[in-house]
Amino acid sequence: MCPINRAGKDCITVAEGDKKPLIDEELCISCMLCVKECPTNAISIVNLPAQLDEPVIHRYGPNLFALYRLPVPKQNQVVGLVGPNGMGKSTVLRILSGLIVPNGSRFDKPGDWTPVVEQFKGTELQGFLERLRDGKVRTVYKPQDVDLLPRQVKGSVRELLRKVDQTNGFARVVERLGLAGILDREFSQLSGGELQLTAVAAALLKEAELYFFDEPSSYLDVHQRLKVAREIRALAQRAFVLVVEHDLAIADYLADSVHLLYGEPGVYGVVSQPYGVRVGINTFLEGYIREENMRFRPEGIAFSGRPRQSDKNKLLLEFPGFEKKFAGFALRTEPGQLFRGEIIGVLGPNGIGKTTFIRMLAQEEKSDGAADAAGRPTAAGLSQYGLPLRLSYKPQRLAIPEGQGALSVRDFLFAQGADPTTAEGKRALRALNAERLLEKRVGTLSGGELQTVFIVSCLIKPADLLLLDEPSAFLDVEQRLRVAKLLRQETEARGIPAFVVDHDLQLVDTIADRIMVFEGAPAKEGVGGAPESIHNGMNRFLRGLGVTFRRDPHTGRPRANKPESQLDQEQKAKGEYYYAG
Ligand code: ADP
Ligand code: ADP
Repeated sequence: MCPINRAGKDCITVAEGDKKPLIDEELCISCMLCVKECPTNAISIVNLPAQLDEPVIHRYGPNLFALYRLPVPKQNQVVGLVGPNGMGKSTVLRILSGLIVPNGSRFDKPGDWTPVVEQFKGTELQGFLERLRDGKVRTVYKPQDVDLLPRQVKGSVRELLRKVDQTNGFARVVERLGLAGILDREFSQLSGGELQLTAVAAALLKEAELYFFDEPSSYLDVHQRLKVAREIRALAQRAFVLVVEHDLAIADYLADSVHLLYGEPGVYGVVSQPYGVRVGINTFLEGYIREENMRFRPEGIAFSGRPRQSDKNKLLLEFPGFEKKFAGFALRTEPGQLFRGEIIGVLGPNGIGKTTFIRMLAQEEKSDGAADAAGRPTAAGLSQYGLPLRLSYKPQRLAIPEGQGALSVRDFLFAQGADPTTAEGKRALRALNAERLLEKRVGTLSGGELQTVFIVSCLIKPADLLLLDEPSAFLDVEQRLRVAKLLRQETEARGIPAFVVDHDLQLVDTIADRIMVFEGAPAKEGVGGAPESIHNGMNRFLRGLGVTFRRDPHTGRPRANKPESQLDQEQKAKGEYYYAG
């Protein structure tokens, strides 16, 4: 089919060895015929932006992913990397830790530092790269996937942390990250949050010149995220620190400057110039880099949409208070009202009973002493109202039912009672960029892809009430923004209310109409308050954390004040932990 081939040149050929199509990128005129005609959709052709007229830092091979530019580690600063997955952040990390010697685009030869050092001559990166080239930079890496650690590490938390401690910081780190209670626990018995804290602690204890933290906040509640952020910030006083973080409120709190990553997942990735953290995150939300005249998202994200148009004053139901006792844990929640089309954000530390509450609403857990809105004891759940209330529940743990791992995503959705071919189905798949997943087997999906499929399933089932437990887990920052937008649109357009439990404060702030705060002593006793206004709920929640937030004047997004800053002190004095203005 290829017009260049027909003219007698080898534009597209069959590669020796793996027999994949091999395209000569110099000859290709991107007519897209091969893309259209390929029966297995194996080819994609992407034109690079004209602005990218500069050398590639590293390319994995012919027609494979290419990385442009590198982030600049800075003395006494935490440098953040913000952007979706698949744009090369791991590649960046591998280069800056010396695991990959960049090859430019000459993958037929071994990597060579010379042109890269040359390229960055006279910049802040030059000296660093020279020392990296000479093998003089010691690096430490906190991996993204802490779930894999129990397979690599045996023994107790104490044994591991003692072994890696090169800074004599064991006692301090254990105290600061609150690890005393799990020191004698075996790795195989740790929860996700405990694995994360242990992995961060291990990195902090090692001695190095450059530290990478890849998604340090996964599995952690806001309290723990802030603790980790403070320790990472303290580390920057003695070393270079680079952090990849998808929770924007935390990235904002954690980093001094940020580089944005943009490009085309799996095709090419560009590291932007560094920005101060406020401007950097605002630029990311805008989707447009002015200095490079580069639009990487069709539209910006705005946060000032509240109060929104909905049937918010149409009462759907009054839900009862619940009580639940497990051995060692007691939960009580207050009754409340639920309006059509509203989203109730649920906040609270880990182990306080949020999931148990959602499961009681979903009727997966029986309440053992529920009282209705008038305080009358009732048997259980919402079914007492005799409403034919259809619930759609996305659990926190994404378990694929026995025997369904081999199903395609399309068939999996059908098996869940979610029809991807309806108008809602198509809308949700498009909004979350998930059409491309339909033919994949569910058992082979990444964490972020599986979360996306579960969210789609929850949103498109016929339902009168949506329950979503930690939808942001495993999602990159771009996908969190898409989920937030879709959730708002769907609940509003269809008049369906939702409870959304999440630890990403910016996500909750964006989507919620009201907030329900859980307080108490984790793993002992929890009290869930009635839904209240965002302002009151956030204020209560943040007071518990001792952190104040203000609003960014430009985007309206919530930003944590630096501890002891003037604003922080003023707001604390006024009791305004959450500045709504
Ligand atoms: P991120 O960490 O941002 O998700 P990565 O740096 O891991 O991105 O990968 C960027 C792209 O490079 C991905 O499409 C990935 O498939 C590709 N890639 C990563 N490692 C290799 C490799 N060794 N060979 C070929 N392609 C690779
Ligand atoms: P959260 O969602 O706020 O993290 P959970 O509702 O998952 O909290 O758990 C609250 C407490 O209840 C935890 O201490 C947990 O160990 C305990 N718990 C939850 N489910 C059970 C159960 N089925 N049996 C015993 N204890 C449980």
